[in-house]
Amino acid sequence: MEEKKGIPLIWQIAIGFVLGIAAGAMVGPSIKIVEPIGKIFITLLKMLIVPLVFSSLVVGTASIGDPRSLGRIGGKTIFLYLATTAIAIVIGLVLGNFIQPGVGMALTDVAKAQPKAAPAIVDVLLDLFPGNPLKAIVDGNMLQLIVFALFFGISAILAGEKGKPVVAFFDAVAETMYKLTGLVMMVAPYGVFALIAVTVSKYGISVLAPFAKVIFAVYVGCALHAIVMYSGLVRIFAGRSPLWFFSGAKEAMLTAFVTRSSSATLPISMRCAKENMGISEKISSFVLPLGATINMDGTALYQGVCALFVAQAYGIPLSLGAQANIVLTATLASIGTAGVPGAGLIMLTLVLTAVGLPIEGVALVAGIDAVLDMARTSINVTGDICVASVVAATEGETLKD
Ligand code: ASP
Repeated sequence: MEEKKGIPLIWQIAIGFVLGIAAGAMVGPSIKIVEPIGKIFITLLKMLIVPLVFSSLVVGTASIGDPRSLGRIGGKTIFLYLATTAIAIVIGLVLGNFIQPGVGMALTDVAKAQPKAAPAIVDVLLDLFPGNPLKAIVDGNMLQLIVFALFFGISAILAGEKGKPVVAFFDAVAETMYKLTGLVMMVAPYGVFALIAVTVSKYGISVLAPFAKVIFAVYVGCALHAIVMYSGLVRIFAGRSPLWFFSGAKEAMLTAFVTRSSSATLPISMRCAKENMGISEKISSFVLPLGATINMDGTALYQGVCALFVAQAYGIPLSLGAQANIVLTATLASIGTAGVPGAGLIMLTLVLTAVGLPIEGVALVAGIDAVLDMARTSINVTGDICVASVVAATEGETLKD
């Protein structure tokens, strides 16, 4: 990370974060005046995404080269993403059953939603292919962008000598985009200050009180998932300590926490993976963009907790079968969810309808969604980096100490 005046950037960001909390709590609503600074920071991060993802994914795919090893790395990555997501939901459901956040709210049972099926796999598949790659770029449709970049990278290799300048060009674009990421990160301390200050002023402690149990369950679940699951995977497959992992991922974790967007955090995740952990460009530029788009462990865990919260609040029992349905629906839905703030709340509608719970439950959670979004996005991103390090280690890469 870039350093300024001797204070490491991560400390500058941390100071911005703490000062932001203090300013939000003390100044109150008029702190809104700093909101544009936070917005500029997020916009700058977003500006990086399409060119960074496209160029680095083309280079990543082309540098894997051999289609067989591409298939192996891809298969491993997707398997790990889906498995960790499913486990995260189970943790959410267990905590929801155990902590019982909604019991005693005794809300009147509103019109129940008609049970709706999980997104059909065929629709998820059909949506992967861009009819017009430029439209996918303009719309920022990440899955389609990823698919096109994969096809493009593979074809550049198949084109042999003639394809080489194309790969070299995108390599140069990717390098330039990494430099630009470094420049944008210099704004991070101010952006983080503004974002957290505005959030704290909006959702003060008193607003949080009635929902403290939901927040508690989601935060405990996220911490458990990170400490047990990610530390375990990194230890078993990469032979590294949790300390190594979390200190390598910390800038991305914090950026995700305040921006509440996996996509916006992607440039930082890529820097962490490469510079702090020594994961090759080949792996990071393939695994991380895919993860920012399809891997959402924190969001899935939150779906589990919230579904039980809503069921308990409305006094509707959820059978084991219904809970299994939640695991399936939330895992599938996470593939199609954008890594942007609040996307998980929209996905919650789908999960609630899948098991016949009142959609009004979404409104219940909406008031505290920003606070929950911070934790879940941070876990979403941490999960991506964890899988990247596992894939890198199992592909025989030597990670940094
Ligand atoms: N904000 C999350 C993300 O970007 C998605 C969500 O709302 O759960 O990863």
